[in-house]
Amino acid sequence: MRVIVLGGGVIGTTAAFELQDDGHEVTLVERNSGVGQFTSFANAGLVAPGHAFAWASPKAPKILLKSLWRNDQAFRFRPSLSPALWGWTMKFLRECTAERARINTQHKHRLCTYSRAVMHDITASGKIAYDGSDNGLLFFHRTQQTLDRGIAHMQILRDLGQEMDILDRDQVAALDPALAPAKEKIAGGIYAKTDGMGDAHKFTREMAHLFAERGGTLKTGVTVEGFDYEGDRITGVLTSSGRMEADAYVLAMGIYSPHVAKAVGVNLPIYPVKGYSITFGIAGSNLAPSVGAVDEDNLIAYSRLGDRLRVTATAEFSGYDDSHKPSDFAVMTRKIRELLPTGADYSRPDYWAGLRPMTPHGAPYLGKAGYSNLYLNTGHGHIGWTMACGSARITRDLVAGRKPEIDMTGLTLQ
Ligand SMILES: Cc1cc2nc3c(=O)[nH]c(=O)nc-3n(C[C@H](O)[C@H](O)[C@H](O)COP(=O)(O)OP(=O)(O)OC[C@H]3O[C@@H](n4cnc5c(N)ncnc54)[C@H](O)[C@@H]3O)c2cc1C
Repeated sequence: MRVIVLGGGVIGTTAAFELQDDGHEVTLVERNSGVGQFTSFANAGLVAPGHAFAWASPKAPKILLKSLWRNDQAFRFRPSLSPALWGWTMKFLRECTAERARINTQHKHRLCTYSRAVMHDITASGKIAYDGSDNGLLFFHRTQQTLDRGIAHMQILRDLGQEMDILDRDQVAALDPALAPAKEKIAGGIYAKTDGMGDAHKFTREMAHLFAERGGTLKTGVTVEGFDYEGDRITGVLTSSGRMEADAYVLAMGIYSPHVAKAVGVNLPIYPVKGYSITFGIAGSNLAPSVGAVDEDNLIAYSRLGDRLRVTATAEFSGYDDSHKPSDFAVMTRKIRELLPTGADYSRPDYWAGLRPMTPHGAPYLGKAGYSNLYLNTGHGHIGWTMACGSARITRDLVAGRKPEIDMTGLTLQ
């Protein structure tokens, strides 16, 4: 079968790789000059089923409200007149009950866990260099009170089979000596030993390289503009380089998926949620972390990616603007230096901002939508790196007409 995958982020590129592996003639279309250069470029790097919690929860409305008048919040809601923002926010608020949060977390965790297994399958050959590590992830808290709340909260994931150990501050420092100098600032943590970390951009590039080497067609610098259709079938995709035809089409354009989908009557409630990241080099004299982590009280995540330390923070609702300025990174820089005083060479920061493709419930949209040959693989929000390989394998199965290996409840547009 001829398949065109639209969007060369970690999601689309991994899907193209899997579809090709299944014997299809695949074309991957990306508007940038290379793959993985947009949201998949410099994320936190955490491969984190242990952090699969839905963002829409009973606490979320209060947090968003508070962020209207405070600028130091990890969540920042910047109201605008955009109908897309208000439509999305109303749907998000409907997901903010305890029951919906529990169900949405279950759906996300199922996909994350499956994805972790598929990722191991894909990387088992050792041919894919992505600065990956399987050392687990640590979710630590500054106070006993927030640690106790974190432990109660994680029970939902434990009930789903996620392995999580509770560590006191000495055990945290023993697990990762890089945290020893700041251990008095930490009450304790939750250690998800089966989680991991790695560079999503490098992974995406490697996937694209293998894909092209095996005969896949990679079209970069080509912008998708719309679809042609007849009845219940997409008959072509309109691009800046002309019309392209295939038997099946996979939509994986992250925050831009809704734009082309809307033109053919498919409404995708996906809204950009901005985050910031800094990458520092690690020199020989640095005491760099060996375990990726989230400082839960400050919502700052970090990972070790080979000889680099990646630090990320903030969820900001400010539309499609991915600009940034040095002052956006001041708080996270101060916090990471307090935690890991000699963790990296802090003199030369590399700043970046990206836009998470968030759905109201937090799970992505996979599977057919509106047409018999249009497949969605989009809306992976804050955890798309973790979900990429599983989403790709599911797309591979669906395009071939096979039943996916996991239950799809909660993972489709329906
Ligand atoms: C600060 C931050 C930290 C994060 N941390 C983590 C983490 O630790 N772990 C985790 O699992 N996830 C994390 N994420 C989330 C993760 O990065 C995203 O979910 C994931 O990158 C989304 O991938 P994607 O391929 O759907 O989107 P993208 O990477 O945006 O890919 C979509 C592609 O489509 C292309 N495109 C768009 N429009 C067109 C068009 N018209 N024509 C052609 N091409 C087009 C774009 O150029 C882009 O390359 C984080 C995100 C951010 C912002």
